Amino acid sequence: MTDFSQTRALFHLPDSITYLDGNSLGPLPLAARDRVARMMGEEWGNMLIGGWNQAGWYTQPRRVGDRIAGLIGAGPGQVVMGDTLSIKVYQALSAALSLRPERRVILSDSGNFPSDLYVAQGIARSRDADLRVVAPGEVAGMIGPEVAVLMLTEVDYRTGRRHDMAALTARAHENGVLTLWDLAHSAGAVDVDLLGVGADFAVGCTYKYLNGGPGAPAFIWVNPRHAERAQPSLQGWMGHAAPFDFDRDYQPAAGIERMRVGTPPVIALTALDAALDVWDGVDMAALRARSITLGQRFIAGVEARCPQLELHSPRDPARRGSQVSFRHASAFAVMQALIANGVIGDFRAPDVLRFGFAPLYNGIEDVDRAVDTLAMVLGSAMWQRAEFHRRGDVT
Ligand SMILES: *Cc1c(COP(=O)(O)O)cnc(C)c1O
Repeated sequence: MTDFSQTRALFHLPDSITYLDGNSLGPLPLAARDRVARMMGEEWGNMLIGGWNQAGWYTQPRRVGDRIAGLIGAGPGQVVMGDTLSIKVYQALSAALSLRPERRVILSDSGNFPSDLYVAQGIARSRDADLRVVAPGEVAGMIGPEVAVLMLTEVDYRTGRRHDMAALTARAHENGVLTLWDLAHSAGAVDVDLLGVGADFAVGCTYKYLNGGPGAPAFIWVNPRHAERAQPSLQGWMGHAAPFDFDRDYQPAAGIERMRVGTPPVIALTALDAALDVWDGVDMAALRARSITLGQRFIAGVEARCPQLELHSPRDPARRGSQVSFRHASAFAVMQALIANGVIGDFRAPDVLRFGFAPLYNGIEDVDRAVDTLAMVLGSAMWQRAEFHRRGDVT
């Protein structure tokens, strides 16, 4: 059984705050700070260009990918790191479409993250494909023989609603449809079993529940049954079979390596690699059980003490990821007042208060403090103060 008081001590978390926004940006793992400082001096500083070989920078996207693979039910050599999630969505969706040249429909849902849908819109325009976006509950019924790719985010960023990945993947395959799963709110949050469900493509980011830091690189997974046939649409030199031959023409590298594009973000990968140390020995089933305990306690507390709020997440924990959302007409100001009182969650337009629970560093005391503070902010109408209505560049 994982000892979560031990894992909490591995993070830099100011005592004065309760942090429930790890679903947007995970906190700083102490090891990441130290490892990056060391890497800067010993590797970049002293090895200079030699770091590509001596410090293994060149192979880092695969080595770190192998560590992510262990958290999402994938195998070694199947995941590679780099770029941002939006780019990885583009790569995976293009490759999946190319594997179904006779079909032209991309199916997704309205709970998907805007960037995923924007990327799909752009791809649909350039390839003369059709993007169909339906309500999350209607996805299963819309899977048919005209669909090329089912592109879904497993856990809805607004509501926390969790799709049944196994059932939808099975239904897609019965209809000859390939699946692309975005694990942005799943990796490090829920138990994912990509090989077990037989998914086709998966992508995700690492700055949310994996605590890789702002702008940390994304990951892409291709099921080995497609990996040698998947055509990369972004044919960068680092995805070439022999980048240092500097051939004039592109030849894809073997397997997942072809999904590399350009020079990897070595400093960011170093931070992420250290951040992943926190997961050594963590049992995902224990993590999931604790996440459910925290979420259920939060819902019960808020519903008992904050009648002004309406639950905006599935009540059944089996249908929810590791976050709980509530609605309030002035959600932005309520969240600002909450943050001013030391409880950090976030706001999602137009009226959603979002709270992420990360068992690695959140405990019962965080839940109770969040409930107490929310009840105070709403009960005293503190959120009505003008200062809590001002918006910054990022909300
Ligand atoms: C967070 C998130 C993104 C963000 O993409 P970036 O390219 O990393 O900015 C994309 N899709 C989903 C589903 C997300 O949750």
